[in-house]
Amino acid sequence: MSRLPKYMAMFLALQLLAPHLHTLNASASVDLHNHLFMNEGMSWMFQGNFYAPLKSTSWKDKFYSRMNGDALQHSDLQIVVVALYAHPLMTLSLRDSIHRQIDQAEAFVADHPEWVIARKASEAALALSMKKRVLVLSLETAAGILETEKDLEAFIDHRGISIVTFMHLTADHYGGVAFLKGSHALASPIDFLKSLFSPHHDDNGVRVNPEKLSDKGREMVEALIKRKVWIDLAHSSDATQKDLYPILKKAGQPHLYTHTTLRRYFQAERSVSDEQLRLVAQTKGMIGLIPSVDMVDPIETLPKECGSCPKDTCQTGLKALAEHFRAASLEIGSDAVVLGSDLNAPLQLIPPTCNTGTDLDQRGFYRGDQIPQLWKALRKADAPIPEPISKYTQKFIATWRKVRP
Ligand SMILES: [Zn+2]
Repeated sequence: MSRLPKYMAMFLALQLLAPHLHTLNASASVDLHNHLFMNEGMSWMFQGNFYAPLKSTSWKDKFYSRMNGDALQHSDLQIVVVALYAHPLMTLSLRDSIHRQIDQAEAFVADHPEWVIARKASEAALALSMKKRVLVLSLETAAGILETEKDLEAFIDHRGISIVTFMHLTADHYGGVAFLKGSHALASPIDFLKSLFSPHHDDNGVRVNPEKLSDKGREMVEALIKRKVWIDLAHSSDATQKDLYPILKKAGQPHLYTHTTLRRYFQAERSVSDEQLRLVAQTKGMIGLIPSVDMVDPIETLPKECGSCPKDTCQTGLKALAEHFRAASLEIGSDAVVLGSDLNAPLQLIPPTCNTGTDLDQRGFYRGDQIPQLWKALRKADAPIPEPISKYTQKFIATWRKVRP
């Protein structure tokens, strides 16, 4: 009589542990752009922080934390590119803010020995072989932070930033930024006004910013490449990207778009064009897709009916995102199309979907610890997510190796 409850207790304990064991074993996916320490860069505009409980309660929430230390542990991410960003109006010193974000990343790995910060592909590969999880530091917006040799020594050599998203929302002395869609293009007000008077469009009529890479921009990119920093093309105008291609080619860098969607389905310069995707294929690069309806429009070519699901879920949100995964995978291979979650950036995520058997059906995608369910839901919606998902980590390391052999 006394034995049965004991075994039952053990059985129950194992049952309780099982989901966590599963989470740990399955840690094998990649996120190319995640703002883990956004409260530092956005100040009071952002609710929540890395150590506080998540503040987001809905996919519509902007400016509320969607990823923190706890959610990171429960995500299945094994490689996370940490996007360091400081808002110019919300921080007293951009450089100090970036330093404080790196301090937080270092404090996290010091407290959690299963995590490391890798500065190069060989360090990440070693960490993976020891079943560890990896943070990679990236900087979003070079201008104002990387200006001098001293900055390069501080942020690249000493603190270990290894990826730089060179441009961001507002054009600066380094080059032109990609226009966002419609009125969001006003994020780059001066360029957008210029564009109203003298409009430029790509071959498919999408408004583009003609601002090129400046001489100062070229100098800085070359200095970064000399230090084996991987240049992220996301957010750069088409014209600036064209100037960057030969520099990247000379350095043998695979093209990288850490967070984007496909322009064929989301008509904005901010998304990758078919031509840009072909160059990612040619250079054996990678892209990260943003799970956000602010970057994923409804796709009318998808079937209107999808089983018993309400019609308005069949061409939108998760189903449309799955189509971005399918189309990009055809061009560059399914292991090269990963997540670029942009979590903690002020974006809406994915509204409730249908028939995926995950809680995305009820609540949509609204926080980082749902990433394992996001993969499951995408697979259910016929996105070619690789099996096993560890193909993502292998691909990332192989691609990063070319930047820093
Ligand atoms: Zn961004």
